Amino acid sequence: MINYGRQNIDQGDIDAVVDVLNSDYLTQGSKIDEFEKNFSKYVGSEYATAVSSATAALHIACLALDLKPGDTVWTSPNSFVASSNCAIYCGANVDFVDISKDDFNLCLNTLEKKLIKAKDKGMLPKIIIPVHFAGLSCDMSSLHKLSLKYNFKIIEDASHATGGDYNKKKIGSCEFSDITVFSFHPVKIITTGEGGMLSTNNKALDRSLKLLRTHGITREKSDFIDSANTHNAWYYEQIYLGFNYRITDIQAALGLSQLYRIEKFLEQRRLIASKYQKDLKNLPISFQSQSMNAQSSWHLFVIKLDDDYSYLRDDLYLFLRNKKIFCQIHYIPIPFHPYYRKLGFDPHKYQNTMLYFKACLSLPIYPDLKLEQVDEIIQLIKLFFNEQK
Ligand SMILES: *Cc1c(COP(=O)(O)O)cnc(C)c1O
Repeated sequence: MINYGRQNIDQGDIDAVVDVLNSDYLTQGSKIDEFEKNFSKYVGSEYATAVSSATAALHIACLALDLKPGDTVWTSPNSFVASSNCAIYCGANVDFVDISKDDFNLCLNTLEKKLIKAKDKGMLPKIIIPVHFAGLSCDMSSLHKLSLKYNFKIIEDASHATGGDYNKKKIGSCEFSDITVFSFHPVKIITTGEGGMLSTNNKALDRSLKLLRTHGITREKSDFIDSANTHNAWYYEQIYLGFNYRITDIQAALGLSQLYRIEKFLEQRRLIASKYQKDLKNLPISFQSQSMNAQSSWHLFVIKLDDDYSYLRDDLYLFLRNKKIFCQIHYIPIPFHPYYRKLGFDPHKYQNTMLYFKACLSLPIYPDLKLEQVDEIIQLIKLFFNEQK
């Protein structure tokens, strides 16, 4: 059986996890700190905070940027629901910006038009969450310029994009954003089972994120509001309403061990992607257009069937599935989901996203996928299209 994605676990990962199991602390020990330090060094940010999932990360990123009821967040409709659910958790409003036909990321031209209209109505978003779809960075420098003009904050949803780069810097360096969020779900670039990370260069934001991750509780003397007990070593204070969004040391040890191999993982993904690009190019399909300024982490390899062929997408999916190759659709547009329609969203307002959704298919791509297996998948896809003639 071949899935569209899967983790790579080696003996080093297993040993790292077992070491924690044999140690004094399964959670709130030293591994989390070590994971955060190595991760921020890897992406080139000042600070990093590890949490229980990217969903949790998105939630506290919104809270740290002071998102409140009445405020608005804009994101891409071509994403996992967590990219917009985070705003709703905060009681804020959500809206979507249609994607570009070429790179399947939030379209900056469409965004600018929407910003101009929103400014006229006095309804500008407080936060925009660009999603680096499939691991390909959005045009962050242009987005950053818009953020200065229209006064919004930026949270990068880099759940797909650990290890990808933009303008020769790793995604997560936060050169053009306030906070970047990563996911360590097993299908993503590195895994902790479940887990996520936030990177930022802003000290005050980092402090808020670390407080929000653990109930809003502080043990720092300098943070204490009530001075009467501060001399007691057992003393702590809850100063905000936070959550238990902590990651465990068991997971952090796995993440650390995975991080040592990330460049190998990325290299393998690049090899697979370039093979697909080369060997599938004469079929009636197109690929996500790549940018000169960005190197994708290739979390996903998506093919998009040409308009005249898109009606065959589900047949191709089934054809491969019957051969035990489990592709996936990324994504069912967020406003297409019944929950969002009930909120009043009309998915057909996002034309490029809907056309893309009907024609897209994510092919298997992960470090352990052998080039011979990639070749088998390629031959099957060619056979499928030949049979249509
Ligand atoms: C996977 C994913 C998330 C959520 O990640 P979890 O770690 O599973 O919470 C959020 N956004 C995008 C774009 C994702 O792909």
